[in-house]
Order: sequence, then C-alpha cells, then structure tokens
Amino acid sequence: MWPFPKKKSDASTTSGTLFFSNTLSGKKEAFIPIKPGFATMYSCGPTVYSRAHIGNMRAYVFADLVARTLRSSGYHLRHVINITDVGHLTGDSKGDPSIGEDKMEKSAHEQGLRASDIANRYTDLFIEDIKLLNLDTAHILFPRATEYINEQIKMVQELEKKGYTYRTHDGIYYDTSKFADYGKLGGLSDAELKAGDAASLEERINVAAHHRIAENKEKRNPADFALWKFSPPGARRQQEWSSPWGLGFPGWHIECSAMIRALLGTEIDIHTGGIDHIAIHHNNEIAQSEGVFEHPFVRYWMHVAFLNIGGEKVSKSLKNDFYVSDVTERGMHPLALRYFFLQAHYRSPLSFSWDAIAASNEALHRLWKLSAAIHLSAKGVSVSTPAENKMLMLLQDDVGTPQALAYLWEVLRDDEFTAKEKLGVLKVAEPILGLSLMNPPEQARQLTLKELPEDLQSVAAAREKARLSRDFEKADTLREKLATRGYRVEDSPEGPIFTMLPNSAGK
Ligand code: AMP
Ligand code: ZN
Repeated sequence: MWPFPKKKSDASTTSGTLFFSNTLSGKKEAFIPIKPGFATMYSCGPTVYSRAHIGNMRAYVFADLVARTLRSSGYHLRHVINITDVGHLTGDSKGDPSIGEDKMEKSAHEQGLRASDIANRYTDLFIEDIKLLNLDTAHILFPRATEYINEQIKMVQELEKKGYTYRTHDGIYYDTSKFADYGKLGGLSDAELKAGDAASLEERINVAAHHRIAENKEKRNPADFALWKFSPPGARRQQEWSSPWGLGFPGWHIECSAMIRALLGTEIDIHTGGIDHIAIHHNNEIAQSEGVFEHPFVRYWMHVAFLNIGGEKVSKSLKNDFYVSDVTERGMHPLALRYFFLQAHYRSPLSFSWDAIAASNEALHRLWKLSAAIHLSAKGVSVSTPAENKMLMLLQDDVGTPQALAYLWEVLRDDEFTAKEKLGVLKVAEPILGLSLMNPPEQARQLTLKELPEDLQSVAAAREKARLSRDFEKADTLREKLATRGYRVEDSPEGPIFTMLPNSAGK
C-alpha cells in the first residue's frame, strides 16, 4: 500500500474540528477519521481520451480544497486521483457506461494513434492544467487503471465467488438485486429504483435514463452493470487482457474499487466526485467494494455541483466546453479560474461566463496587490489572533471558501486590523485557498519608473509633468498610451506607481 507522506508535526496534533457534508447521510457531519491524525481520500479522475474541461477542473479544485483543509488542520493525507485509460464507454452520457464504445479506443481510432499515446498525451495535459490551478501534484498519486488489471480481475473473481455476478454474451455483470443496500448513496429507494423516477432530486439526474436504457436484453435488472467485458468476436482491441472469462477489458466502475483497495485500503475516509457520479458510478463502487469487504468502505462521500453555461452542465457531449488554455489565451491568469470557483460554495451550481472570469481576474490582481503591500509593511512574526482562528474555522466548516474570501477582503481592507494581523490571516488562508497570495506573481508587483520599458519611461515622465502642470487632458492621453501597452499608473503621495494590467504581460 502507498505510505503516508511525511509531515513535520506530530501525527496526533490536529487543530480544530472539520465539518463535511456527507452525501451518504445527507447531513453536515464532524469529520472523524478512521485513524486519528491521518486521512485517506480518493477522487474519481479523468478519462484521458480528450482534454479535461473547466467543469472537470471545478471537481479537482474542490478535491484540492478538501486536501488542503485537511493538511492545514494537521492531518497526514494520502490523496489519490486515478487516471481512467480503459473501459469507460460512451453509453454513460445516456446513463449506462456498460454499453457503447470504449472512449479510449474510439479516440485512438479517430486520431490514428495508439490508445497508450492518447492516454499519455491527455494525462500530461491534465497534470499541466491542474498545476496551473495550483494543485499540489507532488502530493497526489495518479494511478492508471491499466496498471491494476490483475487487482480488478481478482475483485471480479471474489464477487463471482460470493454469487454477485452472472454471464451474458458480452461480459460478466453485477446483479444489483443481490446487494441489499443498492442505491443507498443519495437515498435511492426501492420504489425509485424500480420506477426509474428520480426527477425530484438534482443528484439523481441520470437515473431515469439509466433505467430506460437496458440495451443488453440479458441483463437481469436495469441497474446491473458490466464488471468485465469480452473483446468483440472477430475484432482486435488495442487494449485487451486475458482473464478467467477470456480476452477482454474491465468495466469502468471496478477500476475505482480495485485501485482504492490497492492504494488506500478497504475502508477510506473521503471519496469525492461530481454530482453526476452519485447515482450510478458511486452506487456501483459501493456495491462492488462492500460486496467483497462486507463492511462500509467510504466514511464521507463528498460531491461537487456542476459548473454550468447558460443553465446547461459544461460537458464535452454538449459541446459547450472550455479549457484552462482558453483562460490564458484570453490573457488572464489561470488562477482567475480558481478564484472564480472559490467564490461559490462547492455544493451550489456555478454559472460560467467570460465576464465573470474577467471580474475574478481583476479581483485576484487586486488581492495580490493588497497582499504584496502587507508583506512590505508587516514587520516581525505574526502571533495567533482571533481573526486567524475565524479564518480557519470558516474553511473547516464544509470548505467555506465564499465566506473565507469575503472575510479575507474585509480584514485586508479594514484598518482596524494591524499589518501583522493581516499577514497572520493571509498565512492561514493561503495554504488552503491556494491563490499564490504569499508569493504574488510578477504582474502584481509595483514597478518603479526605471522598471518600465525604456520607451515608456519618457511617456510616464511626460504624463507626470502634464499632471503637475494641471494639463489633465494631456495627462489622460498619456495614461491611455501606457494602458494600451499594458501598464496602469496610479498616483500616490510618493509619486506615480506602475503595475501591469491584469490582462497583459506588458509589451
Ligand atoms: P469524467 O471525466 O466525466 O468522469 O469527469 C471527471 C470529474 O469531473 C468527475 O468528478 C465529474 O463528476 C466532474 N465533472 C464533469 N463535468 C462537470 C461539470 N460541468 N461541473 C463540475 N464537475 C464536473
Ligand atoms: Zn470512480
């Protein structure tokens, strides 16, 4: 099993109580880990057949916020984000990932590449993107499903031995009627499962579709799903393995169950994902793991609401997807996207627009400037203050990032707080918010006249001269000239201060 990363402080010294909303109980609960001082967390990762979009990014920034809150509260944490590089079928957009084509094989075919090349390309892009959003990738393990085929086969065999499986023409299926608690996540009742009527609850969005699509007529129950699929007769797949049931490949759900067991154990503290995974994928993970282990396997199920555009979920199939690169190509900092996510609570749907990202970009740059000024004026070491405790409590309360951001602005702007106190609050907030507030990027730095490009130094000097002689029209024209080149000028008692405009790299 993967060992816990080393932590400087003693394992037993955790501070404060964390509260998380648990989809399993439908309530906000105090976090009580399996082992005091330690936490294990698994987040369903991307299917690497194409680039992960900004909707997916919301799910990973959320997982990162949970991880950072745990670490800041003193926990040793093992965090796994898996890489799905086989077995995720196209039918899942209609509610059934047991049917359709393998997304990896389809993408490989379309692009004339090997599935492994596709997997490498999109895994690398995924890691690059989440790094730009300040995910601490050095402390996350990214296992690939194809590296755990034996573990998956073993788990299917165990389920087979316990009588949970049956064979059809195209694979080995899980008989959901054999698992008494099937559908317990999100509280799917027997009646709802039978009727397929789940429209009343947002989390159950896919269930109705799921029950209508029972394409494999040999399925015993509509909710049954493939654990192992046979390679189609007469066709060679790029990715296939021999198994006790013949040549084939694993179902998507078994991958997570097997990797969790191999890397984190048979019971873990936290499992995260988007709300679209509750109804099917996560109920199926529970059916598999608890079917084998015969005890609960996840203590806290945490789910993030959708990032939407115009009322529709951001998704590849709806063709309304944007990427981290779209943010940077518009001249904005990638952390503007992170700031935008943090403004909403993770359980609330969030509506994307370019105006909102531009506003986040502006706000983040202002925050960087405020933080940089505090670093300059705060002398000495900060002492623990009520404001710092309040900041930590806001974040420990179910990852309360909107409240924490609002409080951060309040403290930084309010002169009732000393520079030292402000710095203390920044030091508590930043390790969780992850907005680079302790080391703002170059754009946030105040520049002297001499640091401007040479030809702009005379423009800036001429503007100052015009301003002092009250020729405001000329001063404004010259200010505009600086702005078109990406520099903002502000007047202070000490003279003009220059900064780069948020959307500019300076020219
Ligand atoms: P997928 O590759 O579709 O399995 O998605 C990877 C992760 O992103 C899962 O946790 C999904 O629930 C999540 N996800 C997908 N689309 C969105 C969205 N529009 N908003 C928030 N999370 C999403
Ligand atoms: Zn999963």
